[in-house]
Amino acid sequence: MIPNIHRRHFLKVSSLASLSALLWSFSLTERASAEETASSQPKAVTTTEILVIGAGAAGISAARALQDDGYEVIVLEARSRIGGRVWTDRSWPGAALDMGASWIHGIKGNPLTELVKKFALKTLPTDYDSLLTYNPQGRPLTDATRHKLDTRLEEVLAEAAAWGEELDEDVSLQAGIDHVLAKWDLSRQERLELDYAVNTTIEHEFAADAAEFSLWYGDEGETFGGGDVIFPGGYDQIFRRLAQGLDIRLNQPVQKIEYGRAGVKITTHNAVFEAERAVVTLPLGVLKTGTVSFAPALPGSKTAAIRRLGMGLLNKTYLRFPEAFWDDAHDLLGYIGERKGEWAEWLNIYKYTGQPVLLGFNAGRYGRQLEKLSDGQIVGAAVKTLRTIYGDDIPDPTAWLITRWASDPLAGGSYSYLPPGATEADRETLAEPVAEQLFFAGEATSTDYPATVHGALLSGRRAAAEIGEL
Ligand SMILES: Cc1cc2nc3c(=O)[nH]c(=O)nc-3n(C[C@H](O)[C@H](O)[C@H](O)COP(=O)(O)OP(=O)(O)OC[C@H]3O[C@@H](n4cnc5c(N)ncnc54)[C@H](O)[C@@H]3O)c2cc1C
Repeated sequence: MIPNIHRRHFLKVSSLASLSALLWSFSLTERASAEETASSQPKAVTTTEILVIGAGAAGISAARALQDDGYEVIVLEARSRIGGRVWTDRSWPGAALDMGASWIHGIKGNPLTELVKKFALKTLPTDYDSLLTYNPQGRPLTDATRHKLDTRLEEVLAEAAAWGEELDEDVSLQAGIDHVLAKWDLSRQERLELDYAVNTTIEHEFAADAAEFSLWYGDEGETFGGGDVIFPGGYDQIFRRLAQGLDIRLNQPVQKIEYGRAGVKITTHNAVFEAERAVVTLPLGVLKTGTVSFAPALPGSKTAAIRRLGMGLLNKTYLRFPEAFWDDAHDLLGYIGERKGEWAEWLNIYKYTGQPVLLGFNAGRYGRQLEKLSDGQIVGAAVKTLRTIYGDDIPDPTAWLITRWASDPLAGGSYSYLPPGATEADRETLAEPVAEQLFFAGEATSTDYPATVHGALLSGRRAAAEIGEL
């Protein structure tokens, strides 16, 4: 898949001591005044051969491939950690909890599997059939009802897709579902069940409401077989190991990317970096905001693709309890709520770690509403749902961890999707190099495996190969 990369000679590198490392170790007030001083003084200039922007899966894999091929590479990362949307929290005893990606989706032939083997990391399979779903009254669905629901979902989706083929213009998946259901005579209970199935099997996977993504192209991408696994010791282990020996400058938020015949000049809040070329792995959510400026501006085709592609949202809420009061033998717990998409899916972390922890997922519009609330309000809503299922006697959680990926300025959401009006071609356009100087990687640039860690990883290798082919 990755073409051969030709070895290149190093540029002569004049590397200056990192002023940023000093600045960012100050307290906030000290930092503010130091930044004022830094902005009024000439910024330190560091020169290298290739700059990589972003130390997530795409940036680290691009830098790894380039450095292994003999290039001099510096990675600029805005956060104080590497990994980006692969982020493991270890603040609770006995559990490494993934706040971003959890699963390797499909281990067979997956490049992540090779890295798992190489680094001898422990993974555990998830059994999606090990699922207990509760109805709005808190009673478990029978196997027969679940089976009927799965079949009904397949029928609705097939009919919606068939209707979509007759249309001249793309619409949302929800429009297709509504069209089909207008002819069906479902009871209120059956409709709630179907909404639950759409939410947990589609909206959580694509991080967008069915009303937000394309009927024609929403179900995009390829998959690897062989089942899914999680990392009981944390997903970030892969990228910490892959990043060993790379020159990664943390706390370097890139503000401006200038490119021209002379090369690439990248300005952060307190430093300037110059190189022959750069690999840009800024998340789609960041590219959409325009907080990083490009001079000259990016081609119109690329900015149009950035505008058309959607940045979805999947958030996680971890709740730690004094003991595991739930059905701890199952991998997943489902809840068919009165309102679609609210606290419908839970992962039983106890099964993987032995710790009394539940992980609730919320996606799309409800996820966006929820992340604007305070921690107390979010935990209150989660516990209310759990009390509907397990009764008022369950204990209060003793701790919680809550993600807010949409309001994270360095992500702008969880992962990309195709809304009506966008196509796979937009991902190709986003991936196109500009002027043989800027090379683009990141999950949103992947047509085969968008929205995944392996898609991001492969996109980084692809960008490295494009540079190698010059
Ligand atoms: C909640 C959640 C669950 C997920 N679950 C899964 C899963 O189970 N399996 C799966 O395969 N995928 C999953 N994903 C998707 C997966 O995490 C991403 O597709 C992948 O990690 C993206 O990698 P990337 O390198 O493209 O982007 P990122 O990891 O976002 O890397 C980009 C980097 O750029 C940095 N950056 C941003 N702005 C600047 C700036 N101005 N200057 C310098 N640096 C900057 C960011 O801090 C970041 O480190 C999930 C994502 C989320 C959020």
